[in-house]
Amino acid sequence: MIFSHLFKPFGAVSKVAELDIKRLLDYNIKGIIFDIDNTLVPWGSWDIPEDTRIFIEELKKIDIKCCLLSNTDKRDRAVFIGKELGLAVIPGALKPLPFGFLKALKILGLKREDVVSVGDQLFMDVLGSNMVRIRPILVKPLTDRDFITTRLLRLFEKIILPEVTKEVENFGYIKSG
Ligand SMILES: [Mg+2]
Repeated sequence: MIFSHLFKPFGAVSKVAELDIKRLLDYNIKGIIFDIDNTLVPWGSWDIPEDTRIFIEELKKIDIKCCLLSNTDKRDRAVFIGKELGLAVIPGALKPLPFGFLKALKILGLKREDVVSVGDQLFMDVLGSNMVRIRPILVKPLTDRDFITTRLLRLFEKIILPEVTKEVENFGYIKSG
């Protein structure tokens, strides 16, 4: 596929809480733009999993700046989650369009090369991020519940996923032994 490079994540990990912070630091990452639904919380949920909370606190401790970038039209919920995690949030982001990503960079006050994005959708998070040259890290969706159009996109994802995740870096903990 001609544009397949745009769907290629820089790295992949099974879930956010398993991101290896040391590896991020090896790449001099100073900021992370997080998707919300099926990345930090189950789709449509107001409940933030404990491991998500702990992970975000870990990032704050080492001064990795974070913000939330979501396509959700449920503004109240996005703002609530931002408040709970103590992070700036951009709802209604219209990913994969570039505006939200560029706004996120401004909020973080960082250059695109110092930032990664973390999200669960190839056609929103990975594509949008690559278009503005922010390196994307793909996570497995927390649930198989999704917005109706997303469910359709998941079918296409399934087709191209093996191709685009070939040779991507594993950002999870390296299991020893
Ligand atoms: Mg998502």
